[in-house]
Amino acid sequence: MRLTPRKEEIEAVKALLEDPSFESADQMAKALIKEIAEVLQMRDWIALVHTWSDGHRGLNWAPFGNEAEARAFASKLSIDGTGRLVKLHSPGVMLANTVGKKGWKGYCRHHDCGHAPFTHSAASAARGACQIPTCPCDKFQK
Ligand SMILES: [Zn+2]
Ligand SMILES: [Zn+2]
Repeated sequence: MRLTPRKEEIEAVKALLEDPSFESADQMAKALIKEIAEVLQMRDWIALVHTWSDGHRGLNWAPFGNEAEARAFASKLSIDGTGRLVKLHSPGVMLANTVGKKGWKGYCRHHDCGHAPFTHSAASAARGACQIPTCPCDKFQK
């Protein structure tokens, strides 16, 4: 998984590293692994989907950070058949569109909100306010 860390990903990890409330290295390591898994769930990935030359469903590999990485991997395989690249969309982003993702880039930074931009009204009366029923956000904050 080749990737370039993004600002919001670094922020999420940094917040844990600077948290003084951990009592042991084990505890911090567990929290970091969970956080990083969540961070990586906010990305799209590439899968290499394989078909044997007789047409039978083959072996699939994922995730790759980009197409170039997947192609480089495929070029090292010495098995028959054909491969194609498939984009894996982020379930984290999909969920965050409705349940929200507080403090995450692209989502509303209002303290109680964290919802996607499109959940915020463009109608004049409630302009900018979040339309998720339980959300008190009155203006989208970038
Ligand atoms: Zn909201
Ligand atoms: Zn909001």
